Amino acid sequence: MQGHNRVIERVVVTGGAGFIGSHLCHRLRALGTAVVCIDNMLTGRPENLGTLLDDPQFTLIRQDVSEGCDVKGPVDLVLHLASPASPRDYARYPIETLTVGSHGTLNALDLAHRTGARFLLASTSEVYGSPLVHPQSEDYWGNVNPIGPRSVYDEAKRYAEALSTAYRTTLGTDTVIVRLFNTYGPRMRDEDGRALPTFVTQALAGEPITVAGEGQQTRSMCYIDDTVAGILAAATGSHPGPINIGNPTELTILDLAERIRTECASSAPIVFVERPVDDPDLRRPDISLARSALGWRPSVDIDEGITRTVNWFASRSRQPSRARVAI
Ligand code: NAD
Ligand code: UDP
Repeated sequence: MQGHNRVIERVVVTGGAGFIGSHLCHRLRALGTAVVCIDNMLTGRPENLGTLLDDPQFTLIRQDVSEGCDVKGPVDLVLHLASPASPRDYARYPIETLTVGSHGTLNALDLAHRTGARFLLASTSEVYGSPLVHPQSEDYWGNVNPIGPRSVYDEAKRYAEALSTAYRTTLGTDTVIVRLFNTYGPRMRDEDGRALPTFVTQALAGEPITVAGEGQQTRSMCYIDDTVAGILAAATGSHPGPINIGNPTELTILDLAERIRTECASSAPIVFVERPVDDPDLRRPDISLARSALGWRPSVDIDEGITRTVNWFASRSRQPSRARVAI
């Protein structure tokens, strides 16, 4: 893989056994790049890595990156994704989330600095909190509750952005920050609590689809292949970011639930449940910068992405649990 000033031969992916990280590992190996994945399996799973586990150009290091990133040999690029990401996960692991955002990011930055690698931070639209500006562009500073239930994640990522910037400006580390918006697709965990896998699982099982509040809050959902392409475009470019990576097609959560129910040909009822505290009302990326600086834009529309994702969940639910492997 070609970076902006060098060939990228060996990449470290922290959080590589998770949803987005595993897609990145598979994509990088398809491009012929050697991959070292560091993951402690807090919210990830080895099955996501599938055939990579037998690939001599792929190494899995089971390690907590908050304690260290012990990678020997040359590294050209560090993709730092390790962190719980779903609201249910970071509510369950609040201290771990803060620790990996701080100590984990420090260790991943140190690895990049000492090896001379480019460093990419997978930040999040959550740095905008419950936004007062819509759509969100990178120059918006956000509206975040520093002590609310989402703060362990939002503030960890804001700190990680500050730390990455300090390494860049003080030590000269070659860093880039991407702010990922809601991403969905195969390999999401059906029990991770996020809207899309929850709705698909409920619709396929014919169980009530749990829409929070009146379902009028919005999200902008980006299909995994587009997010992976955006991350790699940022990683191989020279722009320091932050750069929004997301799909600007905005829809209400009720609309999302209805589309999923239709795709699943399900007669499951929609039920309205309590809205989580500090749940953002709106979210839509302004991707002008990604378009101009990276030449990137998403290409999979929401209905196509839902079809692909539902097919994956449906085929998986037909397999015995021991045979469930990554695709
Ligand atoms: P995920 O939970 O599926 O993956 C996270 C991975 O990090 C897991 O494999 C987990 O085991 C690993 N991990 C967590 N703490 C670790 C630690 N201390 N040491 C080593 N490994 C650790 O989540 P995801 O959806 O794939 O998200 C990946 C990254 O992308 C996260 O940093 C998240 O903040 C960011 N992001 C995701 C989304 C999204 O919509 N999925 C949106 C914005 C940002
Ligand atoms: N949501 C919902 N039902 C669920 C899970 C989530 O209506 O079973 C809502 C949630 O309240 C939020 C939206 O869907 O408004 C997106 O939630 P998700 O956890 O997927 O992502 P995030 O809040 O991090 O954007």
